[in-house]
Amino acid sequence: MRLLNALTAMTMLGVAATPAMALEGNLNVYCSVQVEWCEAIATEFQKATGVNVNMTQKGSGEVLAQIIAEGENPKGDVWFGGTGDPHLIAAASELTEIYESPNLANLHEWAHQQYGAASGRSVGIYSGAIGFGYNTELLADKGVEPPQCWADLLKPEYAGEIQMANPNSSGTAYVVIATLVQLMGEEEAFAYLKALHSSINTYQRSGTGPIKAVGRGETSVSISFVHDAVTEANAGFPVGYSIPCEGTGYEVGSMSIISGAPNEENARAFYDYALTAEAQRLGYEVAKQLQMPSNKDAPLPPNAPDLSKITLIDYDFRTFGAEAARTHLISRWDSEIGAMP
Ligand code: PLP
Repeated sequence: MRLLNALTAMTMLGVAATPAMALEGNLNVYCSVQVEWCEAIATEFQKATGVNVNMTQKGSGEVLAQIIAEGENPKGDVWFGGTGDPHLIAAASELTEIYESPNLANLHEWAHQQYGAASGRSVGIYSGAIGFGYNTELLADKGVEPPQCWADLLKPEYAGEIQMANPNSSGTAYVVIATLVQLMGEEEAFAYLKALHSSINTYQRSGTGPIKAVGRGETSVSISFVHDAVTEANAGFPVGYSIPCEGTGYEVGSMSIISGAPNEENARAFYDYALTAEAQRLGYEVAKQLQMPSNKDAPLPPNAPDLSKITLIDYDFRTFGAEAARTHLISRWDSEIGAMP
């Protein structure tokens, strides 16, 4: 631990923060960001410490279900990434543990808010806004304008052209539903989702899927995190994005240590590392991801959507990150929308 504290002190002083410390054994990471980023941080941490990192990528809802199922017999050590709401649910059930990293100090206020809402059991590592991704070539071929507002998605020209994810497995889809409920009220939001259903061709398992389908020309429009649209465009795909004119919701992508983690010391070392600017830069520099990092010294990647310039709703993380709200909204979605032909 002394080496770890030295690393942390160096990091806080802005000195290169590679965790060149002697650790051993394993670390099991459940990872809910794009697999490219999961692999980048796992590889760098393993290289720097010698810890053998076993990484599994799953959607935020799927990891929450796994942690609940593993309960008293946890197999995972750290949950890295994924939308903030399910991290808060795990925290409220004490499935994740309190940890006060020495690297908390240099984080943006929104990352601290997640830490406070989780009573120290989760912390913000990045943020991103919901919007529409679209394939510029497919829309141009059809002579259809890109959607600019939630209301636009109900226009007949988008019938069968839209993808989003399933809120049972995807944290992204849950943020979309919670955003609509906060914008419109629950009854109107569900009427909207029913009307939208006829325009949806697939509800994908993970929130990362619909925007990739847009990039590859499999669908014209996705409801996604807009930073992922820029990733696709940077990779050469004909993808643009827009922010809903009525306002939109956002996530505080989070990280938590699992209660009873079998490799707790390694989990804490990984957690400390993941909060450094150096580790957060990997998201863009290695994995080409464009979320807004939570460490103030990690720059906003070039062309990344700037949340300070987006009309965001005042997303109520405490209400919509509570199990009662999530269970209610997802079971209502299952019975009223998911069950529709
Ligand atoms: N990928 C990216 C880039 C994200 O920002 C997020 C949200 O934290 C996710 C994946 C979460 O994926 P899912 O919607 O499958 O839970």
